[in-house]
Amino acid sequence: MIRCAAEDQPMSATIRIDVDLFSDTVTRPTPAMRRFMCDAEVGDEQKGEDPTVNHLQEMVAELLGKEAAVFLPSGTMCNEIAMRVHCRHGDEMLAHRTAHPIHFETGGPAALAGVNVRPLDGARGQFDAAAVHEGVRFPGRHSPRSRLLWVEQTSNLGGGSVWPLERVARVVEAGRGHGLAAHLDGARLMNAVVASGVSARAFAEPFDSAWIDFTKGLGAPVGAALAGSRDFLAEGLAGLPGIKLDPAEVDTNLVFFDVTGSIDAPTAVERLLAQGVRMGAMGPRTIRAVTHLDVDSPGIDRAL
Ligand SMILES: *Cc1c(COP(=O)(O)O)cnc(C)c1O
Repeated sequence: MIRCAAEDQPMSATIRIDVDLFSDTVTRPTPAMRRFMCDAEVGDEQKGEDPTVNHLQEMVAELLGKEAAVFLPSGTMCNEIAMRVHCRHGDEMLAHRTAHPIHFETGGPAALAGVNVRPLDGARGQFDAAAVHEGVRFPGRHSPRSRLLWVEQTSNLGGGSVWPLERVARVVEAGRGHGLAAHLDGARLMNAVVASGVSARAFAEPFDSAWIDFTKGLGAPVGAALAGSRDFLAEGLAGLPGIKLDPAEVDTNLVFFDVTGSIDAPTAVERLLAQGVRMGAMGPRTIRAVTHLDVDSPGIDRAL
């Protein structure tokens, strides 16, 4: 069962959070970003007359090696719009069974795009070319039309795992053979870039559409801090009693681990919160800790 229990719990106003590992969305703009916002040249973005938005769009297009980009309010909206653009109602999209649109977009694929999602299996949030071949429908009047292949880089519920470039190429090629379009959910693409040394452009190259998230990306791509914190947290946690985690399975800033003792994950998360450390319960036994710009080494020590 995949459930984001802690997300639904109201935050108590009396608890002070010193170390916030709940999500990388909690990052706040740095003073430099705030200054830049104040000084930014603006205009009517609807008419394409906002030079700063235009510049941002050009930068993202360049970064991902695509012709153009559009600035949108959220990553969820990027995903849902991509589905609408690639698919007709009743079409089917192939995605790993842990994919964000299946679990965290409030039924958006069905509600907004009329898209059926076919979940694919595979370790750590990743499927392979064989799963694509198997997942594509045999064309016939009773079947939905397989239309879109979906890759999440890094995979959130796959534990922040980085899809190797060759695997990305192989699954997209498999999809192409069946006439599928390909979409890259790059909410944490820059984490994959930092972890693998492969450029965002190379990762995005096989895809028709790809996006990056500023709410996560603003903190995460600062790079060195993330990779360092991830390793440190991951290896420190594995040494603690009552914690089950394989550091080899931590690629980037998402650290998933299981509690094996008498208390369950929601209780453990509650007790951590009382100590000023916030993490998220992702199931009865599973906890997710997310490092980002605003968590430093002493913070990780505290959390451990
Ligand atoms: C956060 C996230 C999204 C959605 O992005 P928002 O900007 O929060 O709407 C989509 N996909 C993945 C993998 C994410 O982690």
